[in-house]
Amino acid sequence: MAEKYYVECDCGKRARVALHEAGTDKRCEACQQTVRVPDTITLQQSAGDNYPLLRPLQKILMTLRKEEPPFDGLCHHCENREADILIPVKLNILIERYMKNDGGIRPTITGDIALVASAAEEFWKEVWFPLLLCNECREQYFEDRERQRRKRRWELWGLFSLLGAFLVFAYFFAVIIAMFSFFFWLLLAFGWASQFRDRKKMDAWQLPWLEEIRWVPEALAMEDEYNLETGKPLDLHKIRQIINDSEDLDDELTPLQWWMQQFKSGYFEFP
Ligand SMILES: [Zn+2]
Ligand SMILES: [Zn+2]
Repeated sequence: MAEKYYVECDCGKRARVALHEAGTDKRCEACQQTVRVPDTITLQQSAGDNYPLLRPLQKILMTLRKEEPPFDGLCHHCENREADILIPVKLNILIERYMKNDGGIRPTITGDIALVASAAEEFWKEVWFPLLLCNECREQYFEDRERQRRKRRWELWGLFSLLGAFLVFAYFFAVIIAMFSFFFWLLLAFGWASQFRDRKKMDAWQLPWLEEIRWVPEALAMEDEYNLETGKPLDLHKIRQIINDSEDLDDELTPLQWWMQQFKSGYFEFP
């Protein structure tokens, strides 16, 4: 979802321009006049980006803190209905990885030499932002999830029926063929199970949903190493109820602000 930039001609028509065309002249398709394309910052501001100088991830955190678009409460999927639920998204990004010990050969007290293993230390930063959905779009989101679960169930079922078939095979035919078949089955089963190995709480079907939030694709593209997790969906109306019912909480508090208060504030600071 690349950003779109436009310049307006005196004749009233809009022309689409690219960011690298800033400061150049563009010919209007309608009236053939030349139009001066403004500088990059003006272009970005005219496309609704109030923070053209920030990095994409910083834009996400800044607009979240100020509850400006894309975090002004509209659904991220249809972008025209008020959001009803909030799905917490945790982005873990690798900030730094440095060598604590570069390994090599070291002499020891007893006069021997020892081979030292190299070791790296990593510093990851956790950043949270919400995926906001209206009730209609939530249905679609859950349908996507259900489709994925159904697929998994069928694959598991298929794997075990194949094993059953091999057992029957082994009973009627030579043991050596059965052993080969079983080995083949084991390979299949390991291949299937490897999708759970990295224990990520986010599945591939969720990524297109997250990338509908403005600047998320750009932010992810800028990171070398990251992983994403999603939390349990929260009902924004219930949060509003909690705020209204509580005597300690300020009634002016918005559900988004309440959600951010539930976390360490560091999760919403610029990395
Ligand atoms: Zn024109
Ligand atoms: Zn929606």
